[in-house]
Amino acid sequence: MNFSPSSILRQNVINLTPYTPILPFEILSQQLGRRPEEIIKLDANENPYGPSPLVAQALAQAPYLHIYPDPESRELRRALADYTGLEADHLLVGLGADELIDLTMRLFIEPGDIIINCPPTFGMYSFDAAINGAETVNIWRRPNFSIPVDEVEAAFPHPALWGAKSGIPKLIFVTSPNNPDGSWLEDEALKRLLALPAVVVLDEAYIEFSGGSRIQWVKAYPNLIVLRTFSKWAGLAGLRVGYGAFPLEIIKHLWKIKQPYNLPVAGQLAAQVSLADRERLMANVARIIEAREEFYTLLASIDWLEPYPSRANFVLCQVQERPALEIKQKLAEQGILVRYYNSPGLTDHLRFSVGTSAQMARLASALGTI
Ligand code: PMP
Repeated sequence: MNFSPSSILRQNVINLTPYTPILPFEILSQQLGRRPEEIIKLDANENPYGPSPLVAQALAQAPYLHIYPDPESRELRRALADYTGLEADHLLVGLGADELIDLTMRLFIEPGDIIINCPPTFGMYSFDAAINGAETVNIWRRPNFSIPVDEVEAAFPHPALWGAKSGIPKLIFVTSPNNPDGSWLEDEALKRLLALPAVVVLDEAYIEFSGGSRIQWVKAYPNLIVLRTFSKWAGLAGLRVGYGAFPLEIIKHLWKIKQPYNLPVAGQLAAQVSLADRERLMANVARIIEAREEFYTLLASIDWLEPYPSRANFVLCQVQERPALEIKQKLAEQGILVRYYNSPGLTDHLRFSVGTSAQMARLASALGTI
């Protein structure tokens, strides 16, 4: 047969560069020659305290694992309504906030459409844009990581042309607190973005570490989407539970394109138990915030490190006078994993997720020996 399936692949998929998968914990620990429990993993903003102990109990006793999950996640959305103060009608849950980023793109993007991305930031916006055939226009953040809103405004045509069918960005992705630096998007800046003829996707993955959510704004702005996750504050990164708050005019179409059984029974149950046990989890969040502030002060006292103030569960830091990669490697030799960047706007930067105070003490003494 003279036919090659690769000849009919989508062109934008052919053009994608393959994703570099992260190494599983077990393989990393083998590579480093240490047992998994000896490794201090501070490279992916996970929660060092893990989930509520009630999650494992609930999963061990879950009676209906052989039955498909509720496609509307009614019980979880009711609990989320209580947590967010927003009616369940505005809420849709997914397999991590990641699924909701992709779902939002699939709702709005036709091949060739434009999205606005504000790097340095979380990589999934441009990743999903490429998969969905969108063109990403990057508006780079300033050195202090604030968004130059006038440059975003300048990416739009004169208001007289706002009715045009093409050339106008459809989606603007902003993150507050931003990953990788933990900076905050001010209300005034967000309001200016919301005045543009596009949908603003505000990613609040780290909001429990900062307070000041704008999730309620979804009721006032028909063009605002707010995304959240259980991966950070509730320690459920491995179970993949996220949710979004949407204006009613948008969510009614999302329901049509969502996979019916996107969120497994285990994820729904774990999220419900976490919400019920949130007092305990918020005490862990408070510990992480305290450790973050102490760690920031420590980093600021080291003369070859320049940390950025953060409102999330990590601290980004510029390494001076020596290569950041060398620091990352020396820490890894001691079983401490941190995130290394050498991309535009982030040359010689390291991001440290905030662990327990014992883990941060080990990190501090390791930095002291370098
Ligand atoms: N948004 C931001 C800004 C993130 O940093 C992350 C995870 N690192 C996510 C979303 C993804 O969240 P989830 O685990 O719920 O897919």
